[in-house]
Formats: sequence, structure tokens, C-alpha cells
Amino acid sequence: MSGALHARGMWLLAGLWLWSAATGATQPYTGPLFDAHLHYNDEACVHDAPAPGCPHPLSDVLDRMQRNGVRAIIANSRPNDGTKALAQARQQTRAAGVTVVPFIRLYRDRADYNNWFRDPSIAELVRTELAQGTPSGPYRGLGEFHLYDSANAQGAIARDLMVLADRQNLAVLAHVDDLAVEQLMQHVMDARQQQHTPGGASNREVVERGGPESGAGPPQGRFAPPWGAATREAVERGGPVLIWAHTGIGGTPVARVDELMARFPHLMGELSYRPGLTCENGQLCPDWRTLILKYPDRFLIGSDTWINQRWLYYDGLMQGYRTWLGGLPPEVARAVGWDNGARLFGLPEPGNRP
Ligand SMILES: [Zn+2]
Repeated sequence: MSGALHARGMWLLAGLWLWSAATGATQPYTGPLFDAHLHYNDEACVHDAPAPGCPHPLSDVLDRMQRNGVRAIIANSRPNDGTKALAQARQQTRAAGVTVVPFIRLYRDRADYNNWFRDPSIAELVRTELAQGTPSGPYRGLGEFHLYDSANAQGAIARDLMVLADRQNLAVLAHVDDLAVEQLMQHVMDARQQQHTPGGASNREVVERGGPESGAGPPQGRFAPPWGAATREAVERGGPVLIWAHTGIGGTPVARVDELMARFPHLMGELSYRPGLTCENGQLCPDWRTLILKYPDRFLIGSDTWINQRWLYYDGLMQGYRTWLGGLPPEVARAVGWDNGARLFGLPEPGNRP
């Protein structure tokens, strides 16, 4: 290439860069994805049933994950059979390069969405599932559960499940509003404080009395710090990991999300269906970009395959995430796309796809 041509080439490149900067054109994120909100419900597949009982068999959903670079999922399902099917199919999930992080769904059927918080049999269901675990190991979290009315977060079942999660190091995936986030965390603070009030039950007494974790609890030693040493302030610094499904699906103001993120360092924001998240060219809106840059280690992406249509659009959903992740600094894109979820559950580097 002659000097003149070379100079011309450089100008062209510079012009292209200016054009892409001006138009906001960015390259999509190409790294691994952690889908932190995945359902494999019985509309998608009644296992062991032939089509049409199983429009999305394991091979189909794993293929969708694999072709989108989804390398780990928080799996939960109504009923829990779908999660167990995913956990059991170790050869298939390994071949697809997908790590399954199983959560206990609180629902046997649709009626449970609106009743779980006043139904003691749900707490029993959770205890039974927790004791049994999955074919690939213990459950790592509870949820997704819904509280359409935040007042229902005050009930005994919600309280017991939050305390159980705190004691057994389980994450919680909750579709709730901002007030319910505070209420759910309050249960943990109250329970921890009670432990340290003179006359309050000791850890051992709570276990032996048959608290929500009895029968399914880990060895006594695990109730030691941070549980034993906690104070209200410690809970506000820590507490259980609460993954806030949709991060305020009703449009919780960004300033309010910011306030809760600052107050509860183990609060994580999952971003499916979040109103006001993206603006022009599928990129983040300015206020969300600012918030995610402020808390780069606190946000997650998710598909929320609550109906089969979401499976049909799984490619588009993941491409949408890759588009706006590509507009973030590479290390932040990687954090939100993969690292934050992997860190929560101690997953190794995904490596290259098999
Ligand atoms: Zn969901």
C-alpha cells in the first residue's frame, strides 16, 4: 500500500469510528451469558409425554441456550419436575455447555401464585424439596415467587422462607415491589435481632424447636458466623442474596432502586421486563446506564420463560441483551452478562464452548 493510500485508509477508519460513535452503533457483547431467570414449566414440557405434551423438550431448550452462548441458568419450574429434568440430564447439559443452578419453585400449579404466602403446605413443599435435593446436587435458592400485593410479604410463610434462606445460604428470586423488598429483608433483620435479645432463642434451640429448616438443615456448624454474629447493621451490609426479578416491574423509579441497592448490598437486580430499561437502538436509557455503571456487580440478565412464547423468542431476548451489553465498557458487560451470576454460585470460568 502506498503512503497516500495508507493515509486515506486511516482517514476512512477514523471516519468510520466517528460515525459509529455519533450513531451509537456498537458491537454486541460476545461473551458468555448467565440466564438468571429461567422457567421450564409444564406448558413447555410435561416430561415423558410425547408432543404436544412436550412442545419444548430438553434438546430444544438446551439448543436454544447453546446457540445463544448461555452457559449457566437459574432453573426453576412449575411444578419442580422441569428443574429436576434439567438437573438430571447431566450428559446433555454438559454437551450443551450449560451449568444448571436449581431453585425450588413454590408453585405446584397456577393457583399457588396467589396463595403460597398463606398456605402452610407450601412451606412443607419447600422443606421436602430441600431435603431431597436434585439429581445434580442441592438446591441453591428459593423462587421465583410473586407478591402482587406487598402487604402479603408480611405473612408468616414469607417470613419463614426468608429466614430459612438466610440460615441455609440460599438465594431468593422474588417478583415483588420495592416495599416488599424492604419487608422481606426486615424479616431477616428481625429474626437475627431476636437471636441476640436476652431471652431470645439460641441457634440450637431454634433448630431443635423445629423451625422452618428442621429436618433439612445443614450441619449445626453452618449456623455460626455470619448468622450468629449478625446485628441489624450486619444484615443491612449482608443478609441473604435477594435477586429482585425484573428490578421493579411496575416501574419503580431508578432513584428508589438506587436507594435499595445502597442499603442492601446482597440485593441483585434481574432485568427482564424492566420498563424504561432500553431506549434508542436497543441501548440502555441514560439513567439505567448510570445506575448499572454505579453498581456493576449487582445486575443480572434473564429470559423469564414463563410462557412458551418466551421460548420461541429466546434468541431475540438474548440478542437484545447482547446489544445493550455491547454499549457498556467490556468489563461491565462481562460482569452483568456472566460474572455476577457465576460469582453468586461459585461457578468456574465457562471456557470455550464444546
Ligand atoms: Zn418469572
